[in-house]
Amino acid sequence: MAADTVFAKIVSGEIPVEILAETDRVLAFPDISPQAPVHILVIPKSTAYENVAELAAAEPETLAEMIAVAKRLAETHANGEYRLIFNSGATAGQTVFHVHAHVLAGDLEERSLG
Ligand code: 5GP
Repeated sequence: MAADTVFAKIVSGEIPVEILAETDRVLAFPDISPQAPVHILVIPKSTAYENVAELAAAEPETLAEMIAVAKRLAETHANGEYRLIFNSGATAGQTVFHVHAHVLAGDLEERSLG
């Protein structure tokens, strides 16, 4: 359960963000600490899932929607090409335990993974 995270507060509106895309199930907003020319976070509104494997097992259609939103944002904010990253677990770099996709775009050629 990922209920008590900063992203839950963003979903509830307690922490304001610039909403870049929103559907019934998904929200997208800029990362507060961008690591690329375009760095957007796409999250499910549900607080039930800590990582992408849990979400994929329980709600594959929500994961598919997150990826569709990521693609659309890469088209509107960059040239349509993008990198998607799901950190899963603290030793993999996950700091917020509410599943999220990092959408990185812009000129990433010189940037290392992660
Ligand atoms: P993780 O390391 O868990 O994969 O990624 C968490 C991401 O959330 C980080 O890139 C971090 O910059 C971002 N983040 C943490 N707190 C906030 C916040 O309050 N607002 C926004 N927009 N991004 C945040």
